[in-house]
Amino acid sequence: MNRPEPGTSASAQNRYFGPQGLLRARLPQFAVRREQAALAHAVSEALGRRHTLVAEAGTGVGKTFAYLIPLLTSGRKAIVSTASRTLQDQLFQRDIPRLLQILGQTARVVRLKGRANYLCPYRLETAKVDARFNRAEDWQVLREVRRFAATTEEGDLADCSELPENSPVIPWVTSTGENCLGNTCPKIAGCFVVKARNAAWQADLVIVNHHLFCADLALLQGTEQSILPDLDTIVIDEAHGFIATASQAFSDSISSQQVTVLARDILATGLRLAPDGAAWAELSAALEQTAMVFRSQFADLSVGKWDWARLLADKGDGLGDSVAVFTQGLAPARNALQVNRERHPEFERLSVRVEALIERLTMFTDQQQQADSADMPAKVFWLERTRFGVSLHAAPLDLAEPLTATFQKPDRSWIFLSATLAAEQGDASDPEKAFGYFNRRLGLKPGRCLLLGSPFDFQKQALLVLPEDLPDPKAPDLVVRLLSMPGIDALFETIPGGIMILCTSLRAVSLAAAHVRAHPGQFLSSRRLLVQGEAARGALLDSFRSHGRGLLIGSASFWEGVDVPGLALSMVMIDKLPFAPPDDPVMQARMKQARQQGEDPFRSIQCPEALLLLKQGIGRLIRSEADKGVLLVGDRRLYQTGYGKSMLSGLPSFAQARSMRESIAVAGQLFGSPVPTQ
Ligand code: SF4
Repeated sequence: MNRPEPGTSASAQNRYFGPQGLLRARLPQFAVRREQAALAHAVSEALGRRHTLVAEAGTGVGKTFAYLIPLLTSGRKAIVSTASRTLQDQLFQRDIPRLLQILGQTARVVRLKGRANYLCPYRLETAKVDARFNRAEDWQVLREVRRFAATTEEGDLADCSELPENSPVIPWVTSTGENCLGNTCPKIAGCFVVKARNAAWQADLVIVNHHLFCADLALLQGTEQSILPDLDTIVIDEAHGFIATASQAFSDSISSQQVTVLARDILATGLRLAPDGAAWAELSAALEQTAMVFRSQFADLSVGKWDWARLLADKGDGLGDSVAVFTQGLAPARNALQVNRERHPEFERLSVRVEALIERLTMFTDQQQQADSADMPAKVFWLERTRFGVSLHAAPLDLAEPLTATFQKPDRSWIFLSATLAAEQGDASDPEKAFGYFNRRLGLKPGRCLLLGSPFDFQKQALLVLPEDLPDPKAPDLVVRLLSMPGIDALFETIPGGIMILCTSLRAVSLAAAHVRAHPGQFLSSRRLLVQGEAARGALLDSFRSHGRGLLIGSASFWEGVDVPGLALSMVMIDKLPFAPPDDPVMQARMKQARQQGEDPFRSIQCPEALLLLKQGIGRLIRSEADKGVLLVGDRRLYQTGYGKSMLSGLPSFAQARSMRESIAVAGQLFGSPVPTQ
């Protein structure tokens, strides 16, 4: 395998990325980074050799341009999948047009979203009769959507400014894979979903998000037709989130809420299209009752995820009976829909929906027979209890199994990129080892793995605080103990900008918030407290950015995808190493499988996953050459244990302080702040 050194054989890319290159000439802010040229070279090589590239490029490498330039100049048609709609928009509206202009090229670029983002003209029509809203303003919003429908070219609801995010109107004016009438739809000629998908098939570059891409991969496993064009070049950007999204897409789920929605849809459709076809009101009410009874069977469970086999062991035959009763409860609806199937395609779609629910429920009753088997099943069955209802899930235990064939099709270039993919010990000289975890999980056999560090100078820009006297990480009130350490308030005082406390559980978020509120003089003088759950995530982040001296306390959802450059995020405090909860049923099953294969699941699964998440959390801190930041990790296992030390070696090389006194002094120098007297 050809392994060029960064910056040497990458010279072919110098015409774009080098000191005399096009980007330097056209973009005044452009900084030459040898890592960027090396990544562009590797992408170019993967395109030319039609192999798979797996690359980690640390924060600040400029990976977007590093893959887009080789792609745009290769003349190859491609799909680019990224983590979210926001990132899709950034590529489509900002990065790609800018690069095309610089390169003096044109290309047909299409941004394709999931169907829930497009107005469905058929459902908009039926919403006039079917929709039920409790608030008058929702009817007004529906009228606005109708006005929007008359003028829009693309039907993208993000362009309908009068439609609030999460409006109850949205489900009434958009379609799902289950209720879309497809070729039998009377409105198909003006269908925005069809139009968008057709445009994607004609495009040179299709920008999608992982949810859509993975849903399409899952479709391909069945008999259904692909949504996306069958292109031989696929870039998976922000690839660290790909495994979780793929796992979700390959899972089968059924929820009590789904049955409640089905009951309402049957009622609306029946009354509108065949009022004489069945006793729709009674049928619908019985179905809602079935969902409610099923939900009530699990009222004794606390909110969380429950392993199905364990529930079977605890509840015995009663559990199987509950599922059987739930399945039987669907039978009258199934019969009525069968009888009316010919009367309108909507009945056909509803019928397919009921059959799919019955099929999934049957998987769970069959699972009862397999529960005693010593063999590992291909799927993990679990139940989730939330505040709103109950759902059943069957997730693939081994994602590589359904995906390997796709990833190993010959003559394809797959390019996986992220700032955090390397999850095992290994360095730039042995990237295959560093990416072992990622590659194994997806069944990848890369032609090349590339590990590129960040161009930022972490020694000068950042400080890692790891005091010698950290409390026991197993303490249930760990976060409170950390916030009570002598000198912590003085360290916070030295920080000129915002501080983010990332916790590993919601309980820790509440404890931390309560402690901070109980000691306003220590933590809140001139800082604004923002706590997860007390406002929407987006609103909290907006306040955090604009205030400049926020103290944001959050858990899982704040570990990734948060971009706050500058002083507004000057310190990140992490309560402890983010190991996945051991009681998660999917994690448990994977660990059991690893043990059966003679592995130590702690080393082979839990540590790599924790390291990836830790790197994500840390990645929030330094976003540019000008950024400075302090990181405090309150977990002494990082320096006391072998696996902790190994994780530490996988992090950027920060300057370190091992006492609070030292960290206050160094942080003061870093920010040029006066050192507070303790
Ligand atoms: S084909 Fe499907 S998405 Fe398109 S208008 Fe008809 S129901 Fe709506």
